[in-house]
Amino acid sequence: MSSLTVLGCMWGDEGKAKIVDFLGANANVVARFQGGANAGHTIVLQGKKYVFHTVPSGILYPQTKCVIGAGTVIDPFGLRDEMRSLMDQDIDFSGRLFIDERAGLVLPLHKKLDGLKEEKRGAGKIGTTGKGIGPAYADQASRNGLRFGDLQYPDWLCERLAALYESHGLKWENPDEELSALQEVWEFLAPFAAHADVLVRQWYLEGEKILFEGAQGSLLDLSFGTYPYVTSSNTISGSTSVGIGFPPRWLDKTLGIYKAYATRVGEGPFPTEIFNATADAIRKAGNEFGATTGRPRRIGWFDAVAARYTASLNGLSAIAVTLLDILGGLEELKICTGYWLDGQKLPGYAFHPLELAKIQPEYLTLPGWDDDLAAIRSLEALPANAQDYLEAIQDLVEVPIEVVSVGKDREQTITVK
Ligand code: GDP
Repeated sequence: MSSLTVLGCMWGDEGKAKIVDFLGANANVVARFQGGANAGHTIVLQGKKYVFHTVPSGILYPQTKCVIGAGTVIDPFGLRDEMRSLMDQDIDFSGRLFIDERAGLVLPLHKKLDGLKEEKRGAGKIGTTGKGIGPAYADQASRNGLRFGDLQYPDWLCERLAALYESHGLKWENPDEELSALQEVWEFLAPFAAHADVLVRQWYLEGEKILFEGAQGSLLDLSFGTYPYVTSSNTISGSTSVGIGFPPRWLDKTLGIYKAYATRVGEGPFPTEIFNATADAIRKAGNEFGATTGRPRRIGWFDAVAARYTASLNGLSAIAVTLLDILGGLEELKICTGYWLDGQKLPGYAFHPLELAKIQPEYLTLPGWDDDLAAIRSLEALPANAQDYLEAIQDLVEVPIEVVSVGKDREQTITVK
């Protein structure tokens, strides 16, 4: 009986899906607890590529049960399409996917609102993925929202949906069409509807291993991230409990994932961002373009100040460092070890966006390596400079490194003893 929470600890895109997939081999259950289809995960298995937005990536293991918890918001149409495309790749869902009936619904109206809101923000835009996640969470909080289980009650659904359009001052253009589309999508998804919290608690007590899969990253957490440039849900370790209905005292271990360098998509402060040829080289080598939006990601050096903050916030037991292979060929590498603001060194992370925008990072510079790491399977076999780089990260973040990823494939992973 054990539970493991796996989280991205920066601004998302840390390679969570690959690590969850790697660790998933030891799990009986993989559960998503927050976010929606704004997550874009890619897993490569024996050269074959699978893309996930809402489905937990544990589905690639034929025996693993997968849960979409009450703390998520799901676009039923997108989920159906994602499932169909995975079914076309021979993934079997029957009896293995459990969607909590209390998960919030992302409806076509939310996508429309997302676009309208972002347009209105103009220069102050947040850089959302435009998937309607923010408006859907806002409706949950204002109690106007609809939930997955509402789809089974057509009259209730009609009433709630009419009220929802009204609450936004929008005219419901095609009620019959929308209701029949929702009816159809429910017929597809109904076999997977569940009281997932009850099941997960029961499985845990029966001795199963539960892996909780976070989406986005800790610096995008609604409360503790770089607000307002954040996602609309809580992404830190504590939200596992709230998003599944899983007692906090049963949260046994938390593994945080950090990329070997930093990236950020969309707007918002990014103290270690770089704009030179090195940034272009990393972007190209790491294919740093959003899986959901295709936007080029901003690139920066590893920020150990931010990393230590999120390690502490999440109470990490261990960390995984991903995409180490991408840094090969650079003459030198930098790690941010301190934040300076208006001539003063800060004791830790800065919280206000106006302060973060002015931070002067203090850097440790380390020599790079030329070797290709893709085929390396042990820490000792890594070039000495790569080992030193990892050691510096571990020392600065103050959490032991347990996993190092040197390529996209499940196999290209080093477990640190
Ligand atoms: P997630 O949202 O955190 O799961 O991150 P993404 O799906 O955006 O993952 C980043 C991309 O990096 C994906 O295309 C992965 O296949 C790939 N990836 C993950 N780990 C590694 C790694 O160690 N090296 C390389 N080269 N690619 C990786």
